[in-house]
Amino acid sequence: MQPISEIYPQLTAPRNVVITTHQKPDADAMGSSLTLYHFLRSFGHTVTVISPTNWARWLDWMSGANMVLDYELNREKAENILARAEWVFCLDFNTLDRTKNLAPALRRGSFTRILIDHHQQPEAATFHYGVSDTSKSSTCQMVYDFILGAGYKNAINIDMAECLYAGVMADTGSFRFPSASAQVHEMVADLKERGLQHTKVHENIYDNFLENRLRFIGHILLHRMDIFYEYNTALISIPKKDLLRYEVKTGDTEGLVNYPLSIQGIKLAALVIDRDEERKWSFRSKDDFDTNTFARKYFEGGGHFAASGGRSSDPLEITVQRFFEAMKENALQLQ
Ligand code: 5GP
Ligand code: MN
Repeated sequence: MQPISEIYPQLTAPRNVVITTHQKPDADAMGSSLTLYHFLRSFGHTVTVISPTNWARWLDWMSGANMVLDYELNREKAENILARAEWVFCLDFNTLDRTKNLAPALRRGSFTRILIDHHQQPEAATFHYGVSDTSKSSTCQMVYDFILGAGYKNAINIDMAECLYAGVMADTGSFRFPSASAQVHEMVADLKERGLQHTKVHENIYDNFLENRLRFIGHILLHRMDIFYEYNTALISIPKKDLLRYEVKTGDTEGLVNYPLSIQGIKLAALVIDRDEERKWSFRSKDDFDTNTFARKYFEGGGHFAASGGRSSDPLEITVQRFFEAMKENALQLQ
């Protein structure tokens, strides 16, 4: 993988560009993709953002979101655009399997793959150019660095500032996690000086749910959360019938895994959701428990030290049993 700075001198020659990100894109994935979309379009590139799947309805306020192609809904169109693409930017993921059904098309294409990502253990051989930096708070921070590195600081307009802020805010837990560095705050100060109204972004992301989501969370915390004090671990396990009963949509379960971490002493919080195609895991930790290693070892996943995800093809009950065994194997690390 060549350094991303080698892209800088090539920016001014218009190309066919695709920007893609991980399945079920979150605020960082969508915010970074759309910022880069606006930035590249300003040079006259033909740019399409392709999302492997749908996304939370409450990200639709982002400028350009209405132009994003959902691969599952527009497969043929997306494949045609990919066939003409010269550059494909891969944002907020670092292994092609994170793009689900889109992965084969990304793998076989003859275009140049460019990575911008902050997760651990990138599949570096897959990308021609890129930057992978786990010390960065978010891919949005990295896209900001990319724009500054290329020397176009003044290209950042209010639409881009809102997208960037949303991603960095979401991925730092509203500037709470250790990744909220001095550089992050300097970036936010710069966005503010450009006229960013940050409270609007918070409201768009955190005060934009429907009533059913709150009822759903109430139900889950009361009936689907178990605490294992001996292991300083909490598990939330959500069966399919709950998703149907509360009409849970993409994005509605985001943040749920954080609730049990607010209980004194809890080191590991795990959430498993019985989705149609797989059982999807989220892991969060406090103190010194490495969720990335845990997710990789037991549930075909990965992510960051304190926040990871994974999957399982087993039925929910068996998946949960496997989690209990993994928890017991990690008893020492969980003390
Ligand atoms: P979340 O729990 O919010 O879905 O994901 C937490 C973190 O882990 C995110 O940074 C996400 O990109 C990563 N992640 C989630 N699921 C997977 C997975 O199945 N594989 C890998 N490698 N990373 C994942
Ligand atoms: Mn991210």
